[in-house]
Amino acid sequence: MTKSETIVLVAEDEESFIDALTLGLAKEGMRVLIARDGREAIDVWKESSPDVILLDLMLPKLSGIDVCKEIRTQSQVPIIMVTARGSEVDTVVGLEVGADDYVVKPFSMRELTARIRAVLRRSPNGEGEAKPPTGGKAEMLRIGAITLDTARHELRVSDKPVPLPLKEFELLELLMSNPNRVMTRDMIVDRVWGPFHTSDTKTLDVHVKRLRSKIEPDPARPTYITTVRGLGYRFESRPATQ
Ligand code: CA
Repeated sequence: MTKSETIVLVAEDEESFIDALTLGLAKEGMRVLIARDGREAIDVWKESSPDVILLDLMLPKLSGIDVCKEIRTQSQVPIIMVTARGSEVDTVVGLEVGADDYVVKPFSMRELTARIRAVLRRSPNGEGEAKPPTGGKAEMLRIGAITLDTARHELRVSDKPVPLPLKEFELLELLMSNPNRVMTRDMIVDRVWGPFHTSDTKTLDVHVKRLRSKIEPDPARPTYITTVRGLGYRFESRPATQ
């Protein structure tokens, strides 16, 4: 049995983006449906049940946030929000109304396809055997003095091995794989502890505290894992004290 192609709904009103995305995603073997405003996005989603939705935040008629809310009342289809640089608050609102991930304009096709494949893998209806993203998963994550070898499950800080329990390791891997991106508490809990975990963010905060004690030069004044007040955490790719 051949696997049917991935259908991507692109909700976007900028023609230059539409052209680039249609071309780029087709090259990746995906089929692209276009909606040029928020209402059309909902209509096309209802008619065609795409596998994933790429949703621009600034759309005519109905904003990306409203489209996302509306779809989430009925469906868990993976949604990737497309946001403009500097609209961090919108991004977080998008994640809180149920988007799975986001990309910031301008983004590369490589980043976009990697994110699409990642949400498809995590999607409960997704095909478990989705191909690994082009470029593959980084096995060695290096930021500042911190090196995480994901294949061997080893953390080194300033070249000294530091033992890490599994959940702390997974948490650090998630944060280091998304440098400079705000990760909301719910999003982190969902990915590290799983969607059925009772969203206990206290557990997360304790794990962050333990991680900081292991990787931060001064855990009381963290420079790698910073707190984004009221929202979540962010891993800084250029920690202040380096
Ligand atoms: Ca737009």
